[in-house]
Amino acid sequence: MPSRKFADGEVVMGRWPGSVLYYEVQVTSYDDVAHLYTVKYKDGTELALKESDIRSQSSFKHRKSQSSSSSPSRRSSSRSRSRSRSPGRPARGKRRSASQSREQKDDKKKTIQETSLALPVLALFKRSENNTERYNGEPESTEKNDTSCVILEQKLKPDLEINRVLEQYSLRSRKDDKKKEEIYSEKKTFMAVKPIEKVPTKTKELEFGGRIGTFMLVFLLPATVFYLLLMCKQDDPSLLNFPPLPALESLWEGRVFGVFLLWFFLQAVFYLLPIGKVVEGLPLSNGRKLQYRINGFYAFILTTAAIGILLYFQFELHYVYDHFMQFAVSATVFSLALSIYLYIRSLKAPEEELAPGGNSGYFIYDFFTGHELNPRIGNFDLKYFCELRPGLIGWVVINLAMLLAEMKIHNLSVPSLSMILVNSFQLLYVVDALWNEEAVLTTMDITHDGFGFMLAFGDLVWVPFVYSLQAYYLVAHPTSITWPAAAVITVLNCIGYYIFRSANSQKNNFRRNPADPKLANLKFIPTATGKGLLVTGWWGFVRHPNYLGDIIMALAWSLPCGFNHILPYFYVIYFICLLVHREARDEHHCKQKYGLAWERYCQRVPYRIFPYIY
Ligand code: NDP
Repeated sequence: MPSRKFADGEVVMGRWPGSVLYYEVQVTSYDDVAHLYTVKYKDGTELALKESDIRSQSSFKHRKSQSSSSSPSRRSSSRSRSRSRSPGRPARGKRRSASQSREQKDDKKKTIQETSLALPVLALFKRSENNTERYNGEPESTEKNDTSCVILEQKLKPDLEINRVLEQYSLRSRKDDKKKEEIYSEKKTFMAVKPIEKVPTKTKELEFGGRIGTFMLVFLLPATVFYLLLMCKQDDPSLLNFPPLPALESLWEGRVFGVFLLWFFLQAVFYLLPIGKVVEGLPLSNGRKLQYRINGFYAFILTTAAIGILLYFQFELHYVYDHFMQFAVSATVFSLALSIYLYIRSLKAPEEELAPGGNSGYFIYDFFTGHELNPRIGNFDLKYFCELRPGLIGWVVINLAMLLAEMKIHNLSVPSLSMILVNSFQLLYVVDALWNEEAVLTTMDITHDGFGFMLAFGDLVWVPFVYSLQAYYLVAHPTSITWPAAAVITVLNCIGYYIFRSANSQKNNFRRNPADPKLANLKFIPTATGKGLLVTGWWGFVRHPNYLGDIIMALAWSLPCGFNHILPYFYVIYFICLLVHREARDEHHCKQKYGLAWERYCQRVPYRIFPYIY
């Protein structure tokens, strides 16, 4: 391979991924193995670029001086400019004389056609500078939510002033919203048909304690599940009262494994049913958008009907309670086998389909975090399926089994109030997730994390068997609570749910359609990627309001179990740790993505999850 062309520290022109636009960047390092340059944009964003996406400044100036591009592809399409959803694109005429500007105004049409190279280059030299200024100035750093696609706006309003208008981001009246929606959908189509050139990158910064950490987690996570389940069965589940280890042969039963497989494949059949709408996910790094069928809620209804039929025919659902440990072992074995399959198939996956966070080259790390981003068998998306179906719906079925087991074991005609609360709160959570299934497409699990042991075990074992711990605990440790206490806990759960739902909806709606009229009152900080960061509404309250709501709910799920033992509080304690860690991961990704704009956001919204605390 040829040696590197650009030196560290050199100021060059770097292509913005997915566009034909070049920005002034500084080379910060070079990866000899991947042959990628790490470059820093003026707004602080760091990206890895191929050599072919980098030009020297001198060659660029030479090209700029030619009045029209020699590249037909560049010249032909005004659409190509739509990629540059430039925040703060300056008025093009700023650097020119008045007479030049006049000439250009007279020749608007020609200008629009010839913008292919000259306009973006000029604009972008200025743009970077301008971004920096923008982010450093507090009043300018937030914009009313009125963004839309730059090029297509230019098509609608072909005036030289348009750049100034767009720089301000918000001079469009609400009545143009419909037009903007069209623009937005046109842009989506464009993104789908014109793939962005992929910049393959190796995962350099390892999370979860790197290779040693992930190696230990592969053993520690299943061990934790079994420990918790064994503890729950004990008469005295105090932490220091370590449970006796069960005989190995008692952990496995072929029939239980068969029931587990039946469950998994039944959910797969429901997933494949051609009911429910099909939506597009967020653009992948190559610009492609995958399609997903949204029918999780239908799967839930069908499952409810199937369970109803089983109960009608006197099937004893507390079989699940009696063989709970064996079910957990079956699910663990299955998730391990699935993870091995996922890793093997990922070895053949094209580089561009690998997960940004799970492509380190270290077996154990990639196995744990997930090497392939969206493994699919035909149209069957394995990660998306596992994310919400077998585990999440399974959790509700397990809770119901615990409720029936409680009634049977304690000879109750109605379940205890505690059990009803736990079942109802968690049912609401699951139904909400399935009802808003589309929202999962914008989560880190789908967009960033690969599908490996972490998610396979998390979705199929951790969620159904650990999240149902309170119900499992209540069967062996009946707890009675008063009605006023139940009322207070219910209010707490409702508050948590309200924060969780409205924060998630606000962000999802904003990401899916920034021009949504319902969000018109919200302000945001523009970023170099074209996406905005909300600074008012829930996302201006704390940086992760959805986590706050989730944690409040987690507490409400534990409280019905009383205060005799810490075991039912495992979920809320673990969940706080999980979300604090997840918040740190997300923070890190956002800092890389948004650079200085993210720092401005953090200054505006100083608390991460808990207002005035953290
Ligand atoms: P989030 O929904 O919190 O999304 C984080 C992303 O939102 C960021 O990466 C960024 O992505 C975008 N973002 C951040 N700040 C802003 C802002 N100010 N304005 C607009 N967009 C912003 O991610 P998660 O996947 O972690 O969580 C999703 C939900 O799932 C949460 O409610 C969480 O509580 C829940 N959850 C539940 C778990 C459970 O086990 N019960 C486990 C994990 C999560 P970008 O800019 O690229 O759009």
